[in-house]
Amino acid sequence: MTAPLFDTVCFVGIGLINSSIARAVRQEGLARRLVTLDTSAKARQTALELGVADAASDDPAAVVPGADLVIIGTPVGAVETVARTIGPHLSAGAIVSDVGSVKIAVIRDVTPYLPEGVHFVPGHPIAGTEHSGPESGFADLFRGRWCILTPLPGTDGPAIEKVTALWTAMGSMIEVMDPSHHDQVLAITSHLPHLIAYTIVGTANDLQGHLQQEVIKFSASGFRDFTRIAASDPIMWRDIFLSNKDAVLEVIQRFTEDLTALQRAIRWGEGEVLEKRFTETRAIRRAIVDARQA
Ligand code: NAP
Repeated sequence: MTAPLFDTVCFVGIGLINSSIARAVRQEGLARRLVTLDTSAKARQTALELGVADAASDDPAAVVPGADLVIIGTPVGAVETVARTIGPHLSAGAIVSDVGSVKIAVIRDVTPYLPEGVHFVPGHPIAGTEHSGPESGFADLFRGRWCILTPLPGTDGPAIEKVTALWTAMGSMIEVMDPSHHDQVLAITSHLPHLIAYTIVGTANDLQGHLQQEVIKFSASGFRDFTRIAASDPIMWRDIFLSNKDAVLEVIQRFTEDLTALQRAIRWGEGEVLEKRFTETRAIRRAIVDARQA
């Protein structure tokens, strides 16, 4: 057991990520009290039943005052509304953080609504699953995974240290990054792979008749892994693509050019081009396994 880092943590949006944080915070004794602000009555009820919240409400006035840490864990398209509604209720000296998959848009949408003396430390855990809701969370989700923090220059040092201590106590490694660099890195490592998965599964679904059935029957041949990714939350991913538009469009362009190069190599029977590319990519997989991020 670690000494409590916080008195009261308020989770805004008690879904997969925030409920996982709540479980880890409870397990490690990192806060005295956990409260939840969520627009979903079902999520609030489940959070109370699971014991990941001591109190839950859809009214910021009921749960935000008195919280010394507020973590926004809603889809990124909702953070502006969240910031606007919680802003007037935040206690002086409180830390606000988030877990959104996009950082520039979140910083743009949250910062204007935070009162003087409230510290904003944006974050993004590089951990998750294709499931949603408080029932899907688990305390070990962040163990051995990276958490990227993107504080703006001039952010209160002790506030950054406390958020760092929280993630470290939950088993994460911390990387501090410039927010626009974060958005570019995640566009290629996370956002483009999801877009490709949504595309492949959508294309297969569009194929009619017996072929569609056979796609499901023989899915273990590669398709299955894409269906897992393409089962991710539609609202969350709609918001990610719209919020990280420029970086995503840039990597789609690069990807399209590279796909066209492979298409050309297949057309002209250039086996050495294919072999060279596949050998390079196999080495990347091995590096990820060696880094224990597989
Ligand atoms: P989730 O399971 O879908 O939960 C989100 C919760 O927020 C839902 O209960 C939702 O209610 C609620 N909500 C929506 N708008 C709200 C508002 N204005 N005020 C209060 N509550 C609101 O979400 P998640 O998968 O944990 O993802 C949360 C955030 O983490 C997202 O920004 C995502 O980009 C980021 N993230 C996700 C993953 C992942 O693998 N899932 C990984 C890293 C980061 P309703 O259901 O009624 O809308």
